Amino acid sequence: MGLCQWDNVDVGDEKDTELADALAEVGRRVGQAVTDAVERIRPAFDALAEMANRPEVRAVIQRAEQALRLRPCLCYCSKAHPADRGVCEVFGAVITGQYSSDLVGDVGVPLCAPCAAARAAREFAG
Ligand SMILES: [Zn+2]
Ligand SMILES: [Zn+2]
Repeated sequence: MGLCQWDNVDVGDEKDTELADALAEVGRRVGQAVTDAVERIRPAFDALAEMANRPEVRAVIQRAEQALRLRPCLCYCSKAHPADRGVCEVFGAVITGQYSSDLVGDVGVPLCAPCAAARAAREFAG
């Protein structure tokens, strides 16, 4: 009985070692596979990086980034500041203003700088 238990422990230890070895081997193989894969696609990456560094491509990327950053001004100019309706920079929202309405309560709306100033001036004036 006692011997049997010891045998079991021994087998268990061996299995753990085997498992550790197997895991290490899997790790090595995965690592190698990843290295191989990277090596194989590296030329494509280099070509892509090289292309992305060309000035004309950089210009396109920059313009796309700027376009993505653009936020429309959601000021309701004719209501919010009727005296300065023409100042709005429609795609130049830079700050978030408060818009209060009975329907939706207080919501943050993107506003361009001139609109924000015009609204503030109007509020200040009364
Ligand atoms: Zn406005
Ligand atoms: Zn505006």
